[in-house]
Amino acid sequence: MDVVPVDDPEGWTHPPFAGVVDDEFIWGRGAIDDKSRVLAILEAVEQALREGVRPCETVYLAFGHDEEIFGAAGAGRMAARLRSAGVRARLLVDEGGVITTGVADGIDVPVATIMVGEKGFATVRLAVTEVGGHSSMPGRQTAVGRLARAVARIQDHPFPLRLTPVAVDMLTRVREFMSEPRRTLLGLLNVAGPVAARVLAARPQTEALVRTTTAPTMISGGVKPNVLPQRAEAFVNFRILPGDSVADVLTHCRKVVRDKGMSIELDGITSEPSIDPSAGPDFDLVAAIARELVPGIAVTVGVVPGATDSRYYDDLADTRCNFAPIILNAADLERIHGTDERISRADFARLIRFNRLLLDRLARP
Ligand SMILES: [Zn+2]
Repeated sequence: MDVVPVDDPEGWTHPPFAGVVDDEFIWGRGAIDDKSRVLAILEAVEQALREGVRPCETVYLAFGHDEEIFGAAGAGRMAARLRSAGVRARLLVDEGGVITTGVADGIDVPVATIMVGEKGFATVRLAVTEVGGHSSMPGRQTAVGRLARAVARIQDHPFPLRLTPVAVDMLTRVREFMSEPRRTLLGLLNVAGPVAARVLAARPQTEALVRTTTAPTMISGGVKPNVLPQRAEAFVNFRILPGDSVADVLTHCRKVVRDKGMSIELDGITSEPSIDPSAGPDFDLVAAIARELVPGIAVTVGVVPGATDSRYYDDLADTRCNFAPIILNAADLERIHGTDERISRADFARLIRFNRLLLDRLARP
């Protein structure tokens, strides 16, 4: 199982790869993302085997070793194998959604978000070359100036806000847990859609739900303060909302930059958004288990803002659920890919229980 690297081991309470288990937590890189899930599945399967559970559906366990670097050699190949074998699954379960407390605006109960798809991913590289020369005679603009203007134009022209069917479904499912006036507003989603989209766009965490996001991430150019730069380049990362595409991102960038001499191309790996449009019966099964494990929660749908291995299996399953019933607050969410990643023993136990219940329910004829 792969995990993301650790930037600042000194900042951790316990060394990130020491596997420290104290009275309350299991500490380390991967404790949440995603070793806990693998081990919880294996624990649940071993338990079930020991107790003689015989599922009447085939259960495939597919653990990739390269998820954090896009999964082509792991999930990509496993999915290809399943596809060529003609396997078609009822239910695909993977990482993505969790149960959050104090994160969803205006909802006091914990919220379980079962993700039913994921956003797409694309990085655009902007590059410009100019004749160099002495900075005492710069001409009208330099490569750095042109590039800076292009990046600013992309940032100043975000993708439009759009309330997708999944976002509407998400809001509808949490509506009963909200207080007024939000509840009434959400009841009018058909007429108040644009208002709801604007409310969601007010915070980065929810803005990702209503638009293809734009993030200039890297910029470089020039070699010395008094030398005209001959080359400058920048990278802008986009997370693509269902309904937009990788090609739309590239077209958008070229259109808003309006600089014919600038090279604007896709860079590295891209993926289209993928989404399971229908929350089918097996969604309800997963939702019911979540409610059983943590009574009183709100259960809703969502879209994974990043990319997961599931997109390789998307066409192989009737229902897709990216979910684990671990309970995280805003600070815990930052530990994922961050410092002091850890999972509570209670959460880990609940995760094992979740997988066991899922196996038991699938075992019923
Ligand atoms: Zn990750």
